[in-house]
Amino acid sequence: MKKLISIVVPAYNEELVLPIFHSRIDSIIKPIEKYDWEIVFVNDGSRDSTQNIIDNIQSCDQRISSVNLSRNFGKEIAMTAGLEHARGDAIIVIDADLQDPPELIVDFISAWENGFDIAYARRTHRDGETWLKKYTAAQFYKLMGKISNIHIPADTGDYRIMSRRTVDAILQLREHHRFMKGIFSWVGYPSKAIDYRREARAAGETKFNYWKLWNFAIEGITSFTILPLKIATYLGVLVSLLAFCAGIWTVLKTIAWGEPVAGYPTLIVTMLFLGGIQLLFIGILGEYIGRIFNETKNRPLYFVQSYTPANIIKKLSEIDKR
Ligand code: UDP
Ligand code: MG
Repeated sequence: MKKLISIVVPAYNEELVLPIFHSRIDSIIKPIEKYDWEIVFVNDGSRDSTQNIIDNIQSCDQRISSVNLSRNFGKEIAMTAGLEHARGDAIIVIDADLQDPPELIVDFISAWENGFDIAYARRTHRDGETWLKKYTAAQFYKLMGKISNIHIPADTGDYRIMSRRTVDAILQLREHHRFMKGIFSWVGYPSKAIDYRREARAAGETKFNYWKLWNFAIEGITSFTILPLKIATYLGVLVSLLAFCAGIWTVLKTIAWGEPVAGYPTLIVTMLFLGGIQLLFIGILGEYIGRIFNETKNRPLYFVQSYTPANIIKKLSEIDKR
């Protein structure tokens, strides 16, 4: 039997782009007859007709599996749902908007055939994105590399191929705050970068504004390092030391020269400064505690409204039963 390759496509309000996406992907994978194919569309609670379009595509293409989530859970969870339903020996994750050129799939597969567990796309250019987005993204990955002990390669997205064992490993990480780029590199395994030029969206618009990206960055940091908490500790030690010295100095000064009371400016400045720092770090503590709170609830990651497997998957399940 041929090996199966699954392509996981999270889609949120992508009605404009899905038909184009499908025909592009089809033209790439059709010639690769060595493998069987499955395309898993995950409808992440879209409010437009994304699901209808997936159903239509499915009715004329046997390779399509459709996972319809009960509401919008966000890309990270939608991807996880897709990985969980995909049956392939190798699994490719790709955005629906064609910013990730499907042509790379050919390179991905040859890397996988050569024994790499992961091959990821590394963008050399990003078309159609503002300099501010590029700059902040670059700074974020630099910072992550410095403050956490996982290495997230710069300029990579989620577009990649993964071996079965990599996906099985990823699925064992059940955390709710899923920073997938971190999770991908956390599991390890031999990986390879493949360079490409990131294009502008084929249609529709980005779902990530700066506020979402900021939260995404906080998610990344809090999921993979407790350095901000340590900074609080060391800053606390430093401030206490300074305060201790200042205390001794004040006592000695008063003994030697007396104290004509005054010092309102010093008092207020110190108070405000310390108050500010305390609030800041209570906030940081809160970020972590909030996440502990969410994780301890131990809820399922998502709910599926409907799942319709591709024909090949139905066949595989029958074989499993026997
Ligand atoms: N996406 C999703 N759920 C969301 C937001 C986005 O499944 O809540 C999908 C979206 O349909 C697309 C991919 O994630 O396939 C990347 O989204 P987008 O192109 O908006 O992000 P950008 O490329 O701007 O970072
Ligand atoms: Mg995009």
